[in-house]
Amino acid sequence: MQHIPVYYTPLQVAAATGTSPSAGKPALVIEDWLASALPIVVREPTLVTADQLSLAHDRTYVDEILSCKLKNGFGTHAADVAASLPYTCGSMLSAARAAIREGGVACAPVSGFHHAHYARNYGFCTFNGLMVTARVLQSEGARRIGILDFDQHYGDGTEDILNQTGRDGIHHISAAKDWWSPSQAVDFLKQIPKMIGEMIDCDVILYQAGADPHVDDPLGGWLTTEQLQARDRAVFATCRAVGVPVAWNLAGGYQRDARGGIAPVLTIHRNTMRECVAVFQAYQAYPAQT
Ligand SMILES: [Zn+2]
Repeated sequence: MQHIPVYYTPLQVAAATGTSPSAGKPALVIEDWLASALPIVVREPTLVTADQLSLAHDRTYVDEILSCKLKNGFGTHAADVAASLPYTCGSMLSAARAAIREGGVACAPVSGFHHAHYARNYGFCTFNGLMVTARVLQSEGARRIGILDFDQHYGDGTEDILNQTGRDGIHHISAAKDWWSPSQAVDFLKQIPKMIGEMIDCDVILYQAGADPHVDDPLGGWLTTEQLQARDRAVFATCRAVGVPVAWNLAGGYQRDARGGIAPVLTIHRNTMRECVAVFQAYQAYPAQT
């Protein structure tokens, strides 16, 4: 693989609101990765349609979110957020298709999926791009999809959609269900190959590489910078070793620097991309940046 495919368009960005930087994060992450000279290739994502969103969500909910009649996951009626959502979900879908097609890895530099329920938003999440992607892939013939959610928080929206629409062909692991303490960190890292082993027959694994389990995150707090790096290395190395394609996204991360920027979060996402590159492109280890 020459470069890691990253599915990004400025159309997937909206103004950040409140405590979550998620809506504005894709642009900052791309800027950071390009400035760091990481070997990525930026590709245009596809746009998901209202019909495709409705494979995972209630149709009325989809229409009322897209027309700004309902509040989005940030609690606003902002038109720019509504307009970005088909592209954030589209980024995930494009990355998953590319990982399958090219037999390796691809990245969707987006956040804000796993708390979105079948017919309501929650916790900065409006549409569940994981489940939308899984349902579209199933409609295109995929037999089994893995959702490996290593965000700090439980994927309650994903579970709600599975409960409402059926879980055939989807294997969902949300780490927050069982793991939350620094005392569990070493054991958690050891268990990662086993968790991926449960997904060995999947067409693709959708991996949420959340930055908010970091010990300094105001909403998180149980893995160090080095442990997050080891987490990502274990995921990518195991997926590569067992030959299961992996498409990953950013998920949560809420640390701020002294000037109110998101430099600490960008550092964690950069470390994830460095591990991705190390496993899939350079085959060499990078030291963690702190
Ligand atoms: Zn989170």
